[in-house]
This record gives sequence, structure tokens and C-alpha cells, in this order.
Amino acid sequence: MKRFEADVVVVGSGLAGLAAALELAPLRVHLVTRGVLGADGATAWAQGGIAAAVGPGDSPAAHARDTLAAGDGWSEPRAVEALTAAGPAAIAWLQARGVDFDRDGAGDLALGREAAHGRARIVHARDRTGAEVARALSARVREVAHVRVFERARALRLASDGAAIAGVHTVARGGVRTHVAPCVVLATGGCGQLFRHTTNPAEATGDGLALALEAGVRLRDLELVQFHPTALAAGRDPMPLLSEALRGHGARVVDRGGCRFLALAHPDAELAPRDVVARAVARQMRAGGQAFLDLRPLARELGERFPAAAAACADAGLDPARDLVPIAPAAHYHMGGIATDLAGRSSLPGLWACGEVAATGVHGANRLASNSLLEAVVFARRAAADIRARGGRGGDPGLAPARPAPASRPQRAAVARLRDVMWEEVGLLRQGDGLRAALREIDQSLRVLPPGPARDRARVSRALAAAALDRVHSRGAHVRLDEVVKGSVACAC
Ligand SMILES: Cc1cc2nc3c(=O)[nH]c(=O)nc-3n(C[C@H](O)[C@H](O)[C@H](O)COP(=O)(O)OP(=O)(O)OC[C@H]3O[C@@H](n4cnc5c(N)ncnc54)[C@H](O)[C@@H]3O)c2cc1C
Repeated sequence: MKRFEADVVVVGSGLAGLAAALELAPLRVHLVTRGVLGADGATAWAQGGIAAAVGPGDSPAAHARDTLAAGDGWSEPRAVEALTAAGPAAIAWLQARGVDFDRDGAGDLALGREAAHGRARIVHARDRTGAEVARALSARVREVAHVRVFERARALRLASDGAAIAGVHTVARGGVRTHVAPCVVLATGGCGQLFRHTTNPAEATGDGLALALEAGVRLRDLELVQFHPTALAAGRDPMPLLSEALRGHGARVVDRGGCRFLALAHPDAELAPRDVVARAVARQMRAGGQAFLDLRPLARELGERFPAAAAACADAGLDPARDLVPIAPAAHYHMGGIATDLAGRSSLPGLWACGEVAATGVHGANRLASNSLLEAVVFARRAAADIRARGGRGGDPGLAPARPAPASRPQRAAVARLRDVMWEEVGLLRQGDGLRAALREIDQSLRVLPPGPARDRARVSRALAAAALDRVHSRGAHVRLDEVVKGSVACAC
């Protein structure tokens, strides 16, 4: 039997991975990540901020009510309570590790307001909150002695005998290595890159889901994908995000003629829930129209309060003081994922998951804005506490590494096609025929793709499309145009 070289392997260095790694002290941690600490994953791109009931008159119970309402009856109340109750302590934990949030004139935390939140409760660092969080926690991880960092290393397979975890097989600079450990924490983020249009970074290919599928780990709610309504439609891949907070500050969604068409879709218009706004924008575009964000009402403060949005407009050659900014929906956040309990435990002994790759039940069928960073830090800390309480004991090591297949040109073409199919048939507005056609095409790819990252993507895409086909009723972000209503098929358009 091999000796364990670490107590825990953490895969991913977004907020969930960084928080878990820090909180696992004094256990010996290998932190394996595809990119480079501080600039890696969706965390570094997060703009709006982190929701927490820290303001006067606010309470975790009020935050929980808003979260449950957004989740469309699909959230787990216990998970929501655990999340919202831990919000204030999570913000304090981040501050204690050097995260510098914006403050108001009185020196208190400055709080933003976002759609579907009953009050201002978004803690932020201008519109670069994620970058600030990643900066501070990465610096801390580099200082501590219990974490060894392995950058530009991609986890390929879980080492597992089917009964318990033995570590992770990774590839870095062409070489395969196994990190042998009894506990593994998957914090690999989302899967937006499965879709043609996404706000997610290149690393968000659903690798954690592929690893879990391969190991027979239980997944849930895979069909629940949130599409952001206001990605900047200027031909970039991934698409730059124009944060929800812009609408909270007075930005308007309009058609080419300046008509605020959202007012027809929902009484709250620009502050309607994200999925309502996304579908209204998608329908506007399907009907041959265009959609724009009118940033002129806040053009003066844009550079100061929303530097990321200002920079994205400038990169696209747009002047927000003068031009309407073209927008389109894009795959943004995955509510589904590896099924976990409130301690982050998966169905496989020795495997924990946290952050966007996990499905704790917090978000239900629709995530409330700015709850995901909170979830990442709260449930990473819970998972780390659970592992510590077990003394870092998990499974037995001893499995041989799998050999990765190098990506070839035909595989890149297959990936591009898969992204198109996922966008067209498994995107915002779904129907049975389209989902079945998507499954046929994905199955064809699976027949020819050799083992490796492209095949892994196809497998995750298949699981997501199959889950969307199974769920015949619309719920939250999952919309079936052919929804079965009282035994008949009705168009929900
Ligand atoms: C543009 C944008 C803006 C957002 N704004 C907000 C916001 O304001 N508030 C909010 O709450 N949420 C926001 N979100 C969502 C939020 O950023 C994410 O849900 C959250 O950061 C996820 O954190 P994570 O640690 O789970 O994953 P990530 O931060 O995505 O990190 C995943 C990590 O896993 C690594 N990884 C992936 N696969 C592998 C592999 N095979 N091997 C090794 N490493 C791997 C990646 O390299 C990365 O380090 C935003 C998302 C985007 C895309």
C-alpha cells in the first residue's frame, strides 16, 4: 500500500478551493489547480459582490426568504438556513484574511442592492469583488506551511476503488502524477463552457462533474443552468459580463428604439428575477429584435463604481455615455452538480465537493444574485471542518494513474460543435424534440471521441441534456416550451 503524501487534495483555486485549503490546517493539503493562483476560475471574475445580512435592519431570516423565493420552491430550506445564518461570519472571515471591501462614509461596509433581494445586502469591492477576494486568499495560501500548491495541473481522474477515494490523477506539463491522499475536495467550479455563449472562463468545462461521473458519484439537478441576461454581445468568447448591479443603479434594458420591453414581462422590469430578464431578452432576440443596456443614466459614475463594466465597453469600442450597449443572454451559473450534504460530503466516501461544482440545494431552481460566492466560502469551511473532525481519514490509496489522451484538431472541432448543440437545444428555452436531437448528436460524438477532456465534456453535456429531457415541467431557470400541462402539450412562449 502506498503512503499518503497529503491528508487532503483540494482541486481548484477559486474561492471554494482557497477557503477549504486554508481552513484545513493543520492537515497537509495539496492544492491542485488548472491555472495560476489569484487569477483562476470564475471567482476572479466575479463583479457584483457577496450577499450577507450585515446591514442594519437586515437578518439571515430575511436573506433566507429571498433565497427561497428565487429558488422557485426547489431549494433545501436547511441548506438555505445554514448559508444565510453563516453570512455575516463569512464576511468577517474574509476580512480577517485581508479582503478589503468598500466602506461608506461612516466606515461601515457599503452595501449594494441587486435584483430579487429585498434590501441592500451586497458586500463588494467596487465591481471587482472576486478579484479582491482571490488576491487576498491566494496571498494567504502562499504564506501558510500546510498547503503545497500545484499550478497548471489538471485533475483527470479520481483515484478510487469504487468504495473510497485514494487521491487524484493529474497531468501537468505533459506528465501524469497521482496525488495520493485519503480525502479529496472538488472545488472545480462551473460548466458554462459547455455552451457556445457563456460568461465563464476557459477552465469552466465541468471537469469536476466528469470526474464524479466516471467514479459513479451521485449528481443532481444537472439541468438547472442559470443564464445571465446581460452579457456584452460584442463577439468575445467568453462574453464579458455586465453586472446585475448596473440595473440596480439605474441602467435600463431597451430595444433599438429605446423601448423598455422588460416592463411588459414583469412589474419589477429591470429588477425582475434574473431568469425572467434572461428569457425576455432571449425572446426579444428570437423575434428578430436586439437588446441593449442603456448605461447613460449612470455614465458619470461608471468608471469609478463599475470599472470592469467600463473597461469591457471600452474594449468593445463603445462609449456608454453615448452608445446603447448590445447585450445577449449567456450560460452563467450551474445550480446542479455533485450532490452533497451540509458538510460537503458526496456519495463516495472520502470525496467532498464545494462551490459551484457542488449542489447543496441552496439555490434551488434559480440562484439569487451574489449568493454563490457566499455559498463557496460557507460550504468550503463546513467541508474543511468535517474533514478536520475526522482527522483527515477517508479511503485507502493504491490505484494506478489513467493516461490522458492529447487533444487533437478533430477533437477541437467536436468540442466547438458540442457547444453549438448545447446552446441551440439545451439553452434558455428547451423542448423535447430539440433535447432528443441534442442527445443523438452527443451520442454520436461519444462513439468516436477517445478518452480525454473532449470526451469528458461530451459526457457531462449528455448528462445535462438527459436531465433536461427528464424534467418535463418548467421550474426556475429550466424552461420547457413543450411543458406538459394537464396531459396536453402547451406552448409556454
Ligand atoms: C463573470 C462572472 C461574474 C460573477 N459575479 C458574481 C458575483 O458578483 N457574486 C457571486 O456570488 N457570484 C458571481 N459569479 C459566480 C461566482 O463567481 C462563482 O460561482 C464562484 O466564483 C465559484 O467559485 P468556485 O471556487 O466554486 O469555482 P471557480 O472560482 O470557478 O474556481 C474553479 C477552480 O477549479 C479549477 N479547475 C477546474 N477544473 C480543474 C481540473 N480538472 N483540475 C484542476 N483544477 C481545475 C479552476 O482552474 C479554478 O481554479 C460570477 C461568475 C462569473 C463568470
